[in-house]
Amino acid sequence: MAKSFKQHCSFCGRPENELKLLLTGINAYICNECVERAHEIVKEENSKKQDGFSMKNDELPRPKQIKEFLDQYVIGQDDAKRYLSVSVYNHYKRLMHKPGKDEVEIEKSNIIMVGPTGTGKTLLAKTIARMLKVPFTIVDATVLTEAGYVGEDIESILTRLLQVADYKVDTAERGIVFIDEIDKIARKSDNPSITRDVSGEGVQQGLLKLLEGSVVNVPPQGGRKHPEQKLIPVDTKNILFICGGAFDGIEKKIAQRLNTQVVGYTAIQKTAHIDRNNMLQYIAPQDLKSFGLIPEIIGRLPILTYLEPLDRTTLRNILTEPKNSIIKQYQKLLELDGITLTFDEDTLNYIVDKAIEFKLGARGLRSITEDIMIDAMFELPSSGEKELRITLDYAQSKVEKSRTKLLANSK
Ligand code: ADP
Repeated sequence: MAKSFKQHCSFCGRPENELKLLLTGINAYICNECVERAHEIVKEENSKKQDGFSMKNDELPRPKQIKEFLDQYVIGQDDAKRYLSVSVYNHYKRLMHKPGKDEVEIEKSNIIMVGPTGTGKTLLAKTIARMLKVPFTIVDATVLTEAGYVGEDIESILTRLLQVADYKVDTAERGIVFIDEIDKIARKSDNPSITRDVSGEGVQQGLLKLLEGSVVNVPPQGGRKHPEQKLIPVDTKNILFICGGAFDGIEKKIAQRLNTQVVGYTAIQKTAHIDRNNMLQYIAPQDLKSFGLIPEIIGRLPILTYLEPLDRTTLRNILTEPKNSIIKQYQKLLELDGITLTFDEDTLNYIVDKAIEFKLGARGLRSITEDIMIDAMFELPSSGEKELRITLDYAQSKVEKSRTKLLANSK
């Protein structure tokens, strides 16, 4: 029987012969194009419901909950966690609260975290991002230069945010940006007028514009490769900025400040309690100024917190405690091949010792464990063995082997 084209899509009205696909319901038809369009609408509605802006007050994660979440992935760093949790919570509240005419307007509180490299600054930022319902991006300040010079323009920071927000400007305008290595744009010398400082003070001035909240024209593709692209205006008033940096040598500036403040007997008594091994805990905004950040930038980063150096116990905990700790990751990898992996306690201590010896901090834990595991991960999947126990002798021999290889290569 010849096919009659009587059926129409009940949504757009087009007849079956003009359509790729027509689905039949009880009393209606729908074409493939209407299905796709409906899917887009549902997706958009869902994402609106999920972002922080449309959350109800009782759905907001409280600072304590945010910190508990961070605790699962990041060891120690209690101070930084508390500051971050409160700031992120306040950020949400600001977004939800639309001030009336004469009402108090809550200003945003951007954050700056100071701490040696490899102590968890980026990890904290990334972990916060996991639980956030607003767009989040990490950018590196070292690539930024003043407009017109080789490197990225400041506006490119917002390009990344726009991209993760699927180019929805109003969503991006409520996002969070983590700017790493902020210390690298410190002024190079105390005298700002000697030479043009294209990657220092100039960048700070540009950054200031973003931090204090203004409408910035953002190249949607980033960079200068697409000079023809249409710029998108983005208002940074509600974007939360979290900055991180190692600020190498800032301890000296802190010590100098503490020493010059010592006047009189009670002050001397107070300084006697100073913990010289962890000077960062006494950090104050004026130390950032001595380091080379301009006062206007410091003023726009009102929440200043620090990260502790990682001691032996913390390193040992990092190895096994976090939800996705290095050891748990290797165990999972081998478990997928049906192999049970265990580490002797003295092996774990040995890994920590080596990380300290090589001065690699937490970053070293992974590379040392990798050295120990690489041969076994190569051999075991085809050997049929079901168990692997990493003893101290085994670990030592593998680390020594890879060290000798390194030495041989460097000759
Ligand atoms: P940075 O402070 O330089 O940004 P990262 O956050 O990138 O350091 O840390 C490097 C790696 O070291 C992380 O991927 C993580 O595995 C580990 N690490 C560092 N600090 C911690 C910590 N406090 N808790 C758990 N892991 C950590």
